Amino acid sequence: MDVKAQLLNLKEEVLKEIEGVKDPSSLNEIRVKYLGKKGVITSILKTLGTLPPEERKEIGQLANSIKEFLEEKIREYEENFKKKELEDALKREKIDVSLPPNWFDVGSPHPVLQTLKEITDIFLYMGFSVESGPEVEYEDYNFTMLNIPENHPARDMQDTFYLNNGMLLRTHTSPVQIRTMLKKKPPIAIVAPGRVYRKDLDPTHSPMFHQIEGLVVDQDITFRHLKGILKIFLESVFGKNIPIRFRPSYFPFTEPSAEVDIGCTVCGGKGCKVCKNTGWLEILGCGMVDPNVFTACGIDPTVYSGFAFGLGIERITMLKYQITDIRLLFTNDMRFNSQFKGIV
Ligand SMILES: [Zn+2]
Repeated sequence: MDVKAQLLNLKEEVLKEIEGVKDPSSLNEIRVKYLGKKGVITSILKTLGTLPPEERKEIGQLANSIKEFLEEKIREYEENFKKKELEDALKREKIDVSLPPNWFDVGSPHPVLQTLKEITDIFLYMGFSVESGPEVEYEDYNFTMLNIPENHPARDMQDTFYLNNGMLLRTHTSPVQIRTMLKKKPPIAIVAPGRVYRKDLDPTHSPMFHQIEGLVVDQDITFRHLKGILKIFLESVFGKNIPIRFRPSYFPFTEPSAEVDIGCTVCGGKGCKVCKNTGWLEILGCGMVDPNVFTACGIDPTVYSGFAFGLGIERITMLKYQITDIRLLFTNDMRFNSQFKGIV
C-alpha cells in the first residue's frame, strides 16, 4: 500500500475510534497515540524526506490536512463532552423554586412551665422574690421543722420517697420556707416554685409534680393580708370576676389554716364532672405560719407573724387548658405538647 492510501485508511480508522469514545480521557489518549510527538501521523510526516520529491509535497499536504481534521474532530468531541457535563450538572442541581419550604419545628415551653412562669411573674410584680431549694431534702426541713414531728399522723398525709441518711425527695416546696427563714431575717416575701415528689399515680396525681410556695413574714401580718394577696393572684390568673371562697382546713405548719376554692371555670358554678357537681374547685392551701415553725427557725413568734400558701402547678394548668389526665403532661407526646405552642 502506498503512503497516500495508508494515510487515508488511518484517517478512517482514527475517525471511527474518535466516534466510539465514551469519555474525554479516551479522546486525549487518541490524540497522544496518533497526533502526539511520537504519534503515528507525526512519524509518517517525519518520513517525508525519504519520498520522491514529486510525492513529498502532495503527501505532506495530505498528512497535514488529515492531522488538522482529526485535531478538529477531537476538539469537537471534547466540547460535546463538556457541554453534556454542564447539562447534567444543571439537571442535577436544579432548584425548583415552586416547591413548598421545609418548615422546621420551633419548640415552645411546656404548658406546666408556662403556667409556672405566669404565676411566678404575678408574685414578682407584687414585690415577692424567688427562692429555690434542693429536691433531695433533709427529713428535718421537709417535716420536723414544719411542725410535723416523727410519728406525727400528718406524715402519712404524704406518701414519701425516703432516701438514705435521713434524706428524702421533698414532698412539698415548704422546706424552702425553712431554708429562707434560717438564712434571712424578716421582712420576708418569697415564692418558691419547684418540683416535688409523692408516691401517687392516677389521672389527677403524678409521682413528680410542681408546686409554688409563698411565704410572707413581718410584724403585724394578718389573715387579711393573706386574703388580699391571694385574691389579687387568683383574679390575675382566672379573671376579675372569679368567685373565691376560703374554707377552714388543717395543715400542721399553719394555724389557722384554710383551703381556697374558686368558682368552677368549666360549668361556671352550675355543677359538672370537673367540680364533682359542687360548683367549686379546690385551688390552694394556706394559713398563718404556726408559731412552732417560727421557733424552729429562730424567729420570735411574739414579734413576727406571717402567712404561707402553696398550690400545684399541674392542677392550675389542667384547669386552664381543660386537661383531664395529669399523665398527658409527662408523656412527651408531641401530638399533645405541640398544641400549646405560642400560648405564652
Ligand atoms: Zn363545674
